[in-house]
Amino acid sequence: MISRTENPLPNLLDFTLEEMEEFISSLGKEKFRARQIMKWLYQSGSASFDDMTTLSCDFREKLSRIARISRPQIVKIQESKDTTMKALLRLEDGLFIESVLIPGKNSWTICLSTQAGCAMDCKFCLTARQGFKRNLKPSEITGQLITLKYEMPQCPEITNIVMMGMGEPLANYDNVVKAIKNLTSDFGMGFSNRKVTVSTCGLAPQIIRLGRDICINLAVSLNAPDDETRSNLMPVNKKYPLKVLLDACRQYPMPGRRMLTFEYILMDGINCSVRDAKKLVALLKGQRCKLNLIVLNEYPGSPFKSPSPKTVEAFQQILLDHHFTAILRKSKGRDILAACGQLSGSFGK
Ligand code: SAH
Repeated sequence: MISRTENPLPNLLDFTLEEMEEFISSLGKEKFRARQIMKWLYQSGSASFDDMTTLSCDFREKLSRIARISRPQIVKIQESKDTTMKALLRLEDGLFIESVLIPGKNSWTICLSTQAGCAMDCKFCLTARQGFKRNLKPSEITGQLITLKYEMPQCPEITNIVMMGMGEPLANYDNVVKAIKNLTSDFGMGFSNRKVTVSTCGLAPQIIRLGRDICINLAVSLNAPDDETRSNLMPVNKKYPLKVLLDACRQYPMPGRRMLTFEYILMDGINCSVRDAKKLVALLKGQRCKLNLIVLNEYPGSPFKSPSPKTVEAFQQILLDHHFTAILRKSKGRDILAACGQLSGSFGK
């Protein structure tokens, strides 16, 4: 039986380094113990206080009475023909989420979920259909990576992190920022901030806030060249229309010389005509960015259709002719519903 009552003991995987230091100090212990514990949790994958042999037996015993270490549990792993892997994970309260491992040339990217379900209601996305369940805690965001890394025997070496799974990361702002801190800290998973990307549907105020708080890559799901089309596809556009969104994007400082990415799903008859391409060129004039074009991934019951290769090529060519970096993203893992917008946390149940 899965207990649905919240465990009252703090989960150490929810703490940032500063919070861990505070917690350890409150127990009358030296501050550097916090760093030792972080290393056990993130760099050794310890799921039990017994592992933490740099701490005294007494202290370990005390910790096990007043705190806990809890991370998502693997329920099932599915592998696509193209070697993309999708993991179904169970959270403490019995909810399910999905994470995806995507192969690159010399890299593996993990796509993390940040919410169970999603409240944004984008019309082309399967996750939206299940509605919003709840925000994931920091331990449930970083925990997807930690669990797969330390518990999945065939887990590849993960080189990149994208927050593009289930949910809207910037609608779960505080927990997402804490998770990023632990993923990029020297005492956490140690990823470079250049290797971490957050993808948002366009919550403009949080984009500005993120740019001030933390320095990581940002991707924005644009998907339309004008407000009318975008509002029909993505209700968030009614609150933060294109002018407000693009203004927030211009204020976002990217690490090093990297550029902000706009993601653009191509949907037949909706947003990828020659006229749409020209409107997009005009909209993004002077904006420092690159474009990722994604052919719509259809799912059972999907109201939209993917365009023909000819339509896709013509759309991309217009952007290239106007000196935009426009990359056509090959969707991976479609056969196991692991591609963008296909995550449901249900494994097709
Ligand atoms: N909420 C965030 C992250 C989750 S969606 C965001 O909106 O960016 C991750 C990406 O998948 C987004 O770029 C989104 O536009 C894309 N996506 C959603 N549904 C899709 C579908 N059916 N086909 C292709 N891409 C899709």
